[in-house]
Amino acid sequence: KETYGIDHWGNGYFDVSDDGEVMITCPVNGSDTVKVPLMDVISGMKDRELDMPVLLRIENLLDQSISNINEAFRSAIKAAEYQNIYRGVFPIKVNQQCHVVEEIAQFGNRYNHGLEAGSKPELIIAMASLPSDESYIVCNGYKDEEFIDLGLRAIQLGWKCFFVVETPSEVPLIIRRSKELGVKPMIGTRIKLSTTVEGHWENDSGDRSIFGLNSLQLVEVIDQLKAADMIDCLEMLHFHLGSQIPSIHNIRQGVQEACRYYISMINEGAPMGYLDTGGGLAVDYDGAQHRGTHSKNYTMDEYCVDIVEAVMQTLDPLNIPHPVLMSESGRATVAYSSLFLFNTLDVAHFDPVFKVEKPSDDSDETLKNLFEVTERLNPKNVQECYNDAIFYRDEIRHLFNRGQVNLRVRAQAENVFLSIVQGVQSIAPSVEHLPEELTNLREDLADIYYGNFSVFQSLPDAWAIGQVFPIMPVHRLNEMPTREAMIADLTCDCDGKIDNFIGGRKTLPLHPLKKDEEYYMGVFLVGAYQETLSDLHNLFGDTNVVSIRINADGSYDFMRELHGDSIADVLSYVEYDPKSLRDKFRNTVEKAVRRGKISVSTRQQILAAFSASLSGYTYYEN
Ligand code: PLP
Repeated sequence: KETYGIDHWGNGYFDVSDDGEVMITCPVNGSDTVKVPLMDVISGMKDRELDMPVLLRIENLLDQSISNINEAFRSAIKAAEYQNIYRGVFPIKVNQQCHVVEEIAQFGNRYNHGLEAGSKPELIIAMASLPSDESYIVCNGYKDEEFIDLGLRAIQLGWKCFFVVETPSEVPLIIRRSKELGVKPMIGTRIKLSTTVEGHWENDSGDRSIFGLNSLQLVEVIDQLKAADMIDCLEMLHFHLGSQIPSIHNIRQGVQEACRYYISMINEGAPMGYLDTGGGLAVDYDGAQHRGTHSKNYTMDEYCVDIVEAVMQTLDPLNIPHPVLMSESGRATVAYSSLFLFNTLDVAHFDPVFKVEKPSDDSDETLKNLFEVTERLNPKNVQECYNDAIFYRDEIRHLFNRGQVNLRVRAQAENVFLSIVQGVQSIAPSVEHLPEELTNLREDLADIYYGNFSVFQSLPDAWAIGQVFPIMPVHRLNEMPTREAMIADLTCDCDGKIDNFIGGRKTLPLHPLKKDEEYYMGVFLVGAYQETLSDLHNLFGDTNVVSIRINADGSYDFMRELHGDSIADVLSYVEYDPKSLRDKFRNTVEKAVRRGKISVSTRQQILAAFSASLSGYTYYEN
């Protein structure tokens, strides 16, 4: 349990049972905590022919996150005697999958949790999904006439639907269309704060951020609205400092600066009433509870308390009524509710394969020199021995390339070399001043575990921005992991690997594979951003998706199962027509019959196999 830090990053949602299996641990219906063994769920998937890899969604955890943020704001508001309410909106872009958004809309209805839309398709999702007009809709992003018309219709239907102005050029269109349709718009302005944040998304904040209005542009927007006699439509101030803000200090600073703008907008004659603090509430992916890119130095409660307090401290001295507090938390709302499961197909070791024996007298001189290094290796000469080993190993490679030693000699030399490096690695801890070059040997010798998945399809942020996710085997956790490994995926791409783990580690402790037994690993906290940023590299398609709901009696239901893309599906995404591929292939096979290469019955078998492949899963199938 300690090896993988599950208690630190799991937020209490995951645990390890006495028999070494990951348990999903969640409160059901706000009452007692129920535990479900993940291996049980995996076996249920198998029975339903849902092969690995699978994305598993746990509906209860999604509900729990929505409750958490609403309840945390509720208590912060109550404790501080803040004189208004909180209304959250979920940014659809963080996970647009129908089932996720529907669950958020349905469960969130008890808190009037709304939706944020950054495009026309997302606004359409919001308008079709929210069950009540008490929830808010926030429209961010560039808006054309159609986008604005949709938003105005939402207002006609009773929603509080805000147009957040990103540039002054949007304003004339909003003014014109609202006058033409006779609907009073609710306008917000996205402010470009000078507060900057740390972390990967630091460029979303500060003067050079590509989004939002600076003070000059805000004045321009106010003047445009005044000129159109529509300053009474300016009700909201919005800011977004970037996703995954690691430091609470930045959040407090941002709110304080935003409140100054809020006050200024009131002074300009805008009615205001809503303050939207955007996203940024971070997830502690590595469980370190510190100010790092993959972590955060605050809890959700602290986040809410700090926002409430910062608003009150700035507005109260001026007797400005407290606005409705809004936030657009995406990552923190959905990250925990999905985990990605895959099986392991194979392992490449970097251990000597044969027993290292002294070469015979008539062996190659370089091989004998290399072997001699094994005899003199000790803590005082590790660097020297390591250098010699590399020198002789490389020499053998040159000789092989020139045809002067054969394959067996080269293999023998590589074997001796690996045994020397392993020897150096095991001596290393007892060496007083270990040369820097020798500190990374664990990584150089790490196994490669081949996982049945594509990083590009299922964990795009791990590839694109070096995002770290907690990864661990989901069973055999009562056995000591004795191997150190990096993980490679199925794509033949050198970026298709995971060699960056929580705690800044480059390798992950894993168990040796057992013959005829699957080894399952889970990548946790993958509910945010991963699904729609994914990529069809090597034509590995969408994986199977399963949603479960855990019941109070410890049972669980398979609520939804979505079979992943078939080969025909992914081929059609890149403009192939599976039917015409089948026809073309049939012609090729028929030609082989004509030339007498195969019989008609072999033809039938080949065509049947081709058709079966087209409807098969794109991942490795057992
Ligand atoms: N709101 C806006 C405007 C965003 O651009 C984003 C994402 O970066 C979010 C909300 C969601 O942020 P997070 O996932 O950090 O909560």
